[in-house]
Amino acid sequence: MTKQLYLKPRSAAEAAALLAEHRRAVIIGGGAYVRLGSRRIDVAVDLYDAGLDYVRRTPNGLELGAMATFRMLETAPELQDYADGILVRCVERIVGVQVRNITTVGGTLFGRYGFSNLITALLALDAEVALHHAGRMPLGDFLATKPDSCDLLTAVFLPDQVWRASWQDMTRTVNDYAVLNVAAARCGDQARVVVGARPGRGVRCPEAEAALLAGDADGAAEVAASTLEFGNDVRAGGDYRRELCRTLVARATAEVLA
Ligand SMILES: Cc1cc2nc3c(=O)[nH]c(=O)nc-3n(C[C@H](O)[C@H](O)[C@H](O)COP(=O)(O)OP(=O)(O)OC[C@H]3O[C@@H](n4cnc5c(N)ncnc54)[C@H](O)[C@@H]3O)c2cc1C
Repeated sequence: MTKQLYLKPRSAAEAAALLAEHRRAVIIGGGAYVRLGSRRIDVAVDLYDAGLDYVRRTPNGLELGAMATFRMLETAPELQDYADGILVRCVERIVGVQVRNITTVGGTLFGRYGFSNLITALLALDAEVALHHAGRMPLGDFLATKPDSCDLLTAVFLPDQVWRASWQDMTRTVNDYAVLNVAAARCGDQARVVVGARPGRGVRCPEAEAALLAGDADGAAEVAASTLEFGNDVRAGGDYRRELCRTLVARATAEVLA
């Protein structure tokens, strides 16, 4: 007989202890994608009661718990004005409220999805992530590592910076994944231009960031389109994405410079 376990820890520490005990356990965030898969799960560690569902201000900026849902990002008072509201903009049109009520920050970042709006926006804001074992690190470094399914993403940190920022994306229909998404941000002598859903995951474009710092929106658009890699999938071809990149980066950087 095979016994299946569904565990609901009451804290991140308890969740980490359960993951250490059950090395093949699967973490459940919102469960929206886990449930779509066909893999057999013998032990599930559901974070719903682990106290990670929050958005809060800290002395150093903002902190998003791993179980903060997209709906929480959309409605949190702390995020309405932070970075011109791009964390609200990037999630508010994803599918419908029912889905946004369950999909979580942790599940999205851990999934490292190429189409992810949230990854693109967070990369533009110098977000850091906290993992129970690996500790705190820049989101970009986390995304560059191989996922460790035994580690637990607990929180995301946003610096206390006054970013001018812009969010741009294009979908074929209202409910579809983005054909391309773009986030641009500027704070003093720092600029960020991130392009995602290429269909690969969001990446920064340092050449476009230099153009943004120089106040050249058209230059940023041109250099992003010519240096980044774009590919084909069922939504669009690489050439179309390159043209779209030119348009969306021009809009995003012009908005930041306005
Ligand atoms: C119908 C539908 C349409 C969508 N459309 C879009 C879209 O247009 N744009 C977009 O950006 N996103 C979209 N999403 C994706 C969504 O943003 C989430 O990425 C996805 O649902 C996974 O989030 P989740 O909380 O449900 O994670 P889960 O399904 O629970 O988990 C996903 C993976 O992450 C792991 N995991 C979960 N939480 C943690 C944690 N705290 N620490 C470590 N590992 C963890 C799980 O074990 C699993 O491997 C869509 C989702 C759905 C269901």
